[in-house]
Amino acid sequence: MFTYTPNSTITIKDGVYTILSGKTGNHKTFKVATHVSSNPEKPSYWNNKQIVSIRIAKEDNNVDNTDCWFAFGHVTKTEICVWRKRTNENRFGIEFFERLAVVAAKLMNAISASNSQEITINGNTILFAVDCMACGETLYNPESIRKGIGPVCEKKARAGKGITTSSATSTIAQPDQYVSAKLNRSVKLDGISI
Ligand SMILES: [Zn+2]
Repeated sequence: MFTYTPNSTITIKDGVYTILSGKTGNHKTFKVATHVSSNPEKPSYWNNKQIVSIRIAKEDNNVDNTDCWFAFGHVTKTEICVWRKRTNENRFGIEFFERLAVVAAKLMNAISASNSQEITINGNTILFAVDCMACGETLYNPESIRKGIGPVCEKKARAGKGITTSSATSTIAQPDQYVSAKLNRSVKLDGISI
């Protein structure tokens, strides 16, 4: 059984986060969203609690196979509390989510306290997700987040600029309009619905 003893309070902003593992190079995306009861007269237990979800492949989510966001816990004063029954029913199991929750809570707390778009702690990197500047879709891949544009839109944009897609690598300078759009865009932190 994996146990964790929290030793400090945490504050995590609502938002979409991508965590890049320094060990494996894999990345996972999380959503933290404050739940608001649909009936304000009779608020549920979850009202105003921050629900934490992970973005997983549909086939990996055997609780609700129509949604690729899998809610697995909520934010408390000191940790991300993992929902044991729900995670036990997921094919990854409780221990996977508990380990993930410890790392995620530490990184989310740190980046929430900073003014940074991206920070690295103990080799693991966390980034705030941004929307693709071309199509507005949320970007989850660290490389796309850093560029501010998804791979499909980047290809299209380069084709439109007369740059062949075969040469569309990250070594080519981005078109000026993208650079300025990237500098001007604001990071979406609040108001994200579950
Ligand atoms: Zn796009």
